[in-house]
Amino acid sequence: MKLTDTHCHLADPALLGSLPQVFAAARAAGVCRFIVPATQRSDFADVAALSALPSVHIALGIHPWFAGAAIERDFAELEQQLLKHPKALVGEIGLDYGRAQTQAQRQRQIVVFEHQLVLAQRLHRPVIIHNLKAAAAIMQSVKNCRFTQGGIVHAFSGSLEEARAFMDYGFKIGIGSLLLNPAARKARRAAAELPAENIVLETDSPFMLKNAVNTPANVQKIAAAAAQLRGIKPEDLAAQTERNVNALLADINRL
Ligand SMILES: [Zn+2]
Repeated sequence: MKLTDTHCHLADPALLGSLPQVFAAARAAGVCRFIVPATQRSDFADVAALSALPSVHIALGIHPWFAGAAIERDFAELEQQLLKHPKALVGEIGLDYGRAQTQAQRQRQIVVFEHQLVLAQRLHRPVIIHNLKAAAAIMQSVKNCRFTQGGIVHAFSGSLEEARAFMDYGFKIGIGSLLLNPAARKARRAAAELPAENIVLETDSPFMLKNAVNTPANVQKIAAAAAQLRGIKPEDLAAQTERNVNALLADINRL
């Protein structure tokens, strides 16, 4: 059984120093491919360096948590790096209305998000979207920017209606570590009921676990939990989610 972790921050200091062990544990669990997103300009170089590994695909972008500090130079550097890495996705980008409380903070996040959506559309790249309590605003930005390249809405925990709105715009839904929490009802419902052609698996390593460092090896547990919720074999879920990732990566930069 082969699996992909479609969202792991391998350039995060919690993982970067122990990557040989992280990769070995992942491989032992069947997790053989990794999509590694950046979060801000200061980690572009570390993320870009990982793209030299054949099993790693990267995304470059400015996370909404860092939108407030983003300056023109960050956007220029982002575009330069994306041109240098023609197979890179754009991410992690999006809106976090849990973090941004004031209207001004939210407005700033929207400006930074839409700048990157326009860039991704121009360069024909899918995006990796971070959404917290902002699904409607994200859909609005996608429409405003006439963005049609698709991508992944990661760590999904919204309603089935929200998932359908994203899927209608060509997005895959990232099913992740929330599934390991029996109390995460919306995430479990999404994993159980969304069409198999629209889901991908992820950990969001090193985050999401209380009192432990999350690593890509846990995709195996997430696949097992999702397969159980759907009443299918983990092997069948893995085969379908791998096809979904293959399709997403094949579309990058296809002009
Ligand atoms: Zn992330």
